[in-house]
Amino acid sequence: MDFYSIASGSSGNCIYVGTDRASVLIDAGISCKKITEALHGIDRSIRDLTGILVTHEHSDHIAGLGVLSRKAHIPVYATQATIRQILRYAPLGKVDEDLFHPIDADRPFFIGDMRIEAFHISHDAADPVAYRVESGNQAAAVATDMGCYNRYTLNHLRNLDVVLLEANHDENMLQAGPYPYPLKRRIMGEKGHLSNIACAMLLSQILHDHMKMAYLGHLSKTNNYADLAYATVMSELAMDPNCPYQEGDIPIHVASREHPMEQVRI
Ligand SMILES: [Zn+2]
Ligand SMILES: [Zn+2]
Repeated sequence: MDFYSIASGSSGNCIYVGTDRASVLIDAGISCKKITEALHGIDRSIRDLTGILVTHEHSDHIAGLGVLSRKAHIPVYATQATIRQILRYAPLGKVDEDLFHPIDADRPFFIGDMRIEAFHISHDAADPVAYRVESGNQAAAVATDMGCYNRYTLNHLRNLDVVLLEANHDENMLQAGPYPYPLKRRIMGEKGHLSNIACAMLLSQILHDHMKMAYLGHLSKTNNYADLAYATVMSELAMDPNCPYQEGDIPIHVASREHPMEQVRI
């Protein structure tokens, strides 16, 4: 299985997961042009895509969906409530409603040789989900846009080969930063976004000896930066008496907000 973070951040999200028989995007929140260029970089084209898995209707997850679906007619999978919101989102333009396939959280479905499981996340959208994708013995997951997590979340993030987890903001930067108070409260709230520290606490519970790569993703442009997210997560892991892993034990990288990362083969 190949895992390829094309863009991850509050300005746009798009992650590619591919096997021999299926190629999907998790979200299409950047322009079709950027997605096309990024796929070109791994010798793929948008026409190779067999599905787009949408987590929720916020524009940083669907901004490129309209053009992409008009150009390449790719089936789109999302919860029914998310589909309803997407179809109401005017900037998307006209889309073929027949391309949309409603899915349910906790009810796995298949695309080619991929087993895909959507699971609920706590976020201020109609019916948001995160995705776990399995093929053969491999598993990958993308879990961002979560104000909080619980045992249910952890259970869906066990035994992964690759994970991309949200490290949205530094709590001090957010509190001292320029956002209006209601927006700060929204981001810090139970249906907002995970801070760097919360990300570390979650990561420490799902790291295991066979994990090949963990990405910190969905960084805020205003309230975080890559070095700070990385340093905070590393120092939290080092201070956690229940976490046996130290820097260098498992590759942990910050996913770029704008540029494709190197493709990971698992
Ligand atoms: Zn969101
Ligand atoms: Zn988002």
